[in-house]
Amino acid sequence: MNDAELMRLADRRAAAYEQDAAERVFPDPAALEALSGFDEPFPEVGDAPEIVLDQMDALGSPATVRNNSPDYFGFVIGAGLPVAVAAERLALAWNQCASDWVNSPAAFAIEQQAARYVLEALDLPREAGVGFGTSATACGMSLLAAARRSLLEKAGWDFDAKGLTGAPEIRVVVSGTVHVTVIKALRVLGFGTDRVVRAPVDDQGRIDPARLPSLDNRTILCLQAGEVNTGSFDPFPELIDAARKAGSWVHVDGAFGLWARASQSLRSLTEGVERADSWTTDGHKMLNTPYDGAMGISRSPEMLAKALDSSADYAPAGTSAQKNLTLEFSRRARGIPVWAALKTLGRNGLDELVTSRVALARQFAAGLETAGVEVVNDVVFNQVLCRLPDDDATQRFPQRVQEDGRIWFGPTVWQGRPAFRLSVSSWRTTPEDIDRALGVIRGLIDHPAG
Ligand SMILES: *Cc1c(COP(=O)(O)O)cnc(C)c1O
Repeated sequence: MNDAELMRLADRRAAAYEQDAAERVFPDPAALEALSGFDEPFPEVGDAPEIVLDQMDALGSPATVRNNSPDYFGFVIGAGLPVAVAAERLALAWNQCASDWVNSPAAFAIEQQAARYVLEALDLPREAGVGFGTSATACGMSLLAAARRSLLEKAGWDFDAKGLTGAPEIRVVVSGTVHVTVIKALRVLGFGTDRVVRAPVDDQGRIDPARLPSLDNRTILCLQAGEVNTGSFDPFPELIDAARKAGSWVHVDGAFGLWARASQSLRSLTEGVERADSWTTDGHKMLNTPYDGAMGISRSPEMLAKALDSSADYAPAGTSAQKNLTLEFSRRARGIPVWAALKTLGRNGLDELVTSRVALARQFAAGLETAGVEVVNDVVFNQVLCRLPDDDATQRFPQRVQEDGRIWFGPTVWQGRPAFRLSVSSWRTTPEDIDRALGVIRGLIDHPAG
């Protein structure tokens, strides 16, 4: 089989997979069992490429989680917009090392355009720098490192040369409902989880401005656009005012919620967020671009590029080089699928995508309440947080749904008690899909034992 035939084989199998209307969203026990087929000794003599693809498809495809289907409501997981997936496939054929212009003028030009589109779509300062990284985790870590470095620089401390030993302490204030990956980033960066201050939140998980811990010019304040359980938004105007007065750095985790800015009717949820210093967001959630594609956005591209500088004698570069705006040096051009998605959607299509996901979440919530499910949150965005009348039933229910397999969502804990959470993120989900999911849920509530 020659190279072209192999690529065609992969394309045919991918197309067949995409067209296969699976009945279950989560693989059945037989498919999971069959995964043991991958458990083989490292071959002395390698297999033929088509054998490898055969095995991947035969054993792997049936054991995938169908989060590309309209019936997947777990975590905050988008599907792949076909144009973004297709652009990614072409970019894979290019196989560019998209560190900087010299490695790939094409990738450089497209990612520059992607950055412009992102700033327009999210209405963030047009002079901001956008690093297209792997995840909100990695982009957030980059920006928090840049934030600390910048505050230390203002305090007269040369972080690059002296590191942290003997440095003035930089404090971090996070939301009481901060996402675990922000804590991970802070821990890895050496902030120390015991030293991170958690701001008290209200019943929707928003920081309460009246109880905001003290801030100063050596503090990073981390806010949230889209709390992961409730989808709520911190009250940015008051919090950012307080931070500005104190001279603190404001970082916003907007992994999925920042896209509210693209919706005329939802935009007010994010009022004032444009005054922050840095923002992270994912492409692979609300925007429905493929994994793994995220954006770290810094009001000052220089601040980010100084923190992440990887210019070398053999590879000098400036603040427009992606290798200076992300953790990666050699990297895939993750901005390409983002560009393709935004160019295809346009301002109107993006507004429609976001606005309609939220309308579907509200439809879900209304139907759930009719079915006797308590909706715990104000459904301001795409997350619906639920409980059944007692905690035991609440805990068991997601498991029951998962065993049934027709739809999927997962458990969580909200303010100390079990809950479950449905997220409408997939571009594929329609009002009919929500009605069908509600039918499944009603049936399973009536027959909890299966
Ligand atoms: C998903 C998520 C993250 C982490 O994003 P990754 O891209 O998975 O690293 C951070 N914060 C919030 C609110 C999220 O929903």
